Amino acid sequence: MHKFLLRLTFTLGALFASGTFASNLKSQTPTKPAAGTWAIAVHGGAGSGEWEHMPDAKEAAYHAALDRALKAGAAVLERDGASMDAVEAALHVMEDDPLFNAGRGAVFNEHGENEMDASIMDGKTLGAGAVAGVHFTKNPISLARSVMEKTPHVMLVGQGADEYSKRAGLPQEPVAYFWTAQRWKELGEVLEKSGRPMPPLPPGVTQAMTAVDPNEVSPRHQYGTTGVVVRDRKGNVAAGTSTGGMQGKMRGRVGDSPIIGAGTYASNASCAVSGTGVGEYFIRLNLARGICDAVQYRGMTVQAAADEMLHTTLPSLKGGEGGVIVLSPNEAPVWSFNTVGMFRARMVEGGTEEIAIRH
Ligand code: ASP
Repeated sequence: MHKFLLRLTFTLGALFASGTFASNLKSQTPTKPAAGTWAIAVHGGAGSGEWEHMPDAKEAAYHAALDRALKAGAAVLERDGASMDAVEAALHVMEDDPLFNAGRGAVFNEHGENEMDASIMDGKTLGAGAVAGVHFTKNPISLARSVMEKTPHVMLVGQGADEYSKRAGLPQEPVAYFWTAQRWKELGEVLEKSGRPMPPLPPGVTQAMTAVDPNEVSPRHQYGTTGVVVRDRKGNVAAGTSTGGMQGKMRGRVGDSPIIGAGTYASNASCAVSGTGVGEYFIRLNLARGICDAVQYRGMTVQAAADEMLHTTLPSLKGGEGGVIVLSPNEAPVWSFNTVGMFRARMVEGGTEEIAIRH
């Protein structure tokens, strides 16, 4: 008996020392993929609170949506497509799906307006493009890419970005296209909690459209941003992030998602990252670039670097919450988050698809 206990203690000690238990609690690290294989991970935001009581039907809907996004990106990679194209394809699926806080289904600022942010980065060239506070572009990630490829700039904001989007011929939508009853209801809750008045309905939205199923329990994913990281068969990585930002934000507020190095980063010399969480913390920590720095200069694995950032550095700032997906030119996609859940999926060529919502 005594011997058995001793052995058990030793085994548990060894497991803790090796980090096996710790990393299992945080996330599972997939095995190293063969060289020349593609890989992809997507996220649809992270959150706590209501996540514990998400109805089965809602969970199934998110599951199916993540599957569609992952498959859209994987299809590009499977036909030898480039990582940047796969990022865009997967993000389009989530931007078009009102379940996610990006494109259609974006959250509102305190005046009831959608102000969307997005960025994309090419790990091969370190080319990057970003937009913030855009109102009419159906797929803000494509606008970010257009800024990168067709302008001398990295980032355009507000009216200038809207004008450029039209000039570039990108699909435009009226305000009512992006509006959803569920997000409007959530805006009301957020504004009420902080004693702010509810704004009038935006143009093209009628009172009849505001009805939501009273039995519907929203997961209210506080940080419902969408993001994708990809490696193509040539070993080039890329990352993209698209969001409506934070519900009830001030007009003009910009989060981490369009800030290169904060919510998005990609470099073939280190890794590709897309994040979701409270942007104000991600910006100050330069979070995405911080993870890639740890990979590049401290020789850490993407999992160890992501875990250190999400479980030590981020929560060391009070209120620092969120999650990331990360991959590198030679490591499989990983994720790390310090919230109750994160909508996420990943796949490596020749492997099986993994979709998860909670821990
Ligand atoms: N990071 C986003 C922002 O601060 C929010 C989110 O992840 O949902 O704008």
